[in-house]
Amino acid sequence: MVNAGLRVGGDVADDVGGLPYRHRGPRVVLGPEKFTKGRSAMMGAHHALTGAAAWIAVTATAGHGFGLYPVTALGTLVGALVCAGAALLPDADHGSATVAHSIPFLGKLITRGISGVSGGHRHGFHALLSIFCAWLIATGLGSLTWHPHWWASPISVGPALMSAVSIAVATKALGLSRGSWQRSWAFGLLVAILVALFAPAQQSWFVVCFTLGYAVHLAGDLLTTGGLPLLWPWVPKPPQAWRRIPVLKRLWLRGGNFAVPILGAAGSTREWIVMIPVACYVAWGIWLAAVPLMQVFLSFPR
Ligand SMILES: [Zn+2]
Repeated sequence: MVNAGLRVGGDVADDVGGLPYRHRGPRVVLGPEKFTKGRSAMMGAHHALTGAAAWIAVTATAGHGFGLYPVTALGTLVGALVCAGAALLPDADHGSATVAHSIPFLGKLITRGISGVSGGHRHGFHALLSIFCAWLIATGLGSLTWHPHWWASPISVGPALMSAVSIAVATKALGLSRGSWQRSWAFGLLVAILVALFAPAQQSWFVVCFTLGYAVHLAGDLLTTGGLPLLWPWVPKPPQAWRRIPVLKRLWLRGGNFAVPILGAAGSTREWIVMIPVACYVAWGIWLAAVPLMQVFLSFPR
């Protein structure tokens, strides 16, 4: 019996990467599980917020952070944006993700290519293996430097490039650019130039920041009803007996995904409630990091 929720025609809006994705034309949805399939991942802006919160928690040394990887106040601010952007990149396997709308002209093409290579949305790009790949890419890019004769130290080209992409995507997802990709990229490139020129001694921060953001995205999706194929490319399906056990069948899903669905579906009331303290924490962390920078700026002799 699968037809409890048969639905034909109409528009269905999915939230992937924070942007509404609207199907036009006839659509047949069989059962409630199929209906919620595209809505079972966390929303884009929420991913960005959790990424920023994770970076602040890991790096800040005052009462609001654990100080596991201490950085300067500027590092907290820039890293929060980069981490927020990295927390959106796993959804680059979907044509309607923020990433697709943030990269002018090529966005759709890139996301379509990634989707094809990784097996579709929430497959390869959402597996534990992808966190390792993100770390490898970040490590490779982190060591990409250029030392021109006119600058005192090597310029971090790789981290700057990925920072530009991450920050452009993050500012778009969080609505800081008011929907304009030009503003997103202008801001991303500006911060990236600062990263390239003035943070050459801290190359390792980028690897930690990028990998952390990516992993936080997967953690967020894991808390939703759709779950993740954590062991991809191996996707073991649960036995018949497992699928009949009330709680367990939601932890290891019929399709082989694993989930801890305490947030429910995308955009659920629970997800919004959880995001309130997360947003407050991010605002508090950014404020505490910005205050010493403003004090330095104001005391600067003019
Ligand atoms: Zn996702």
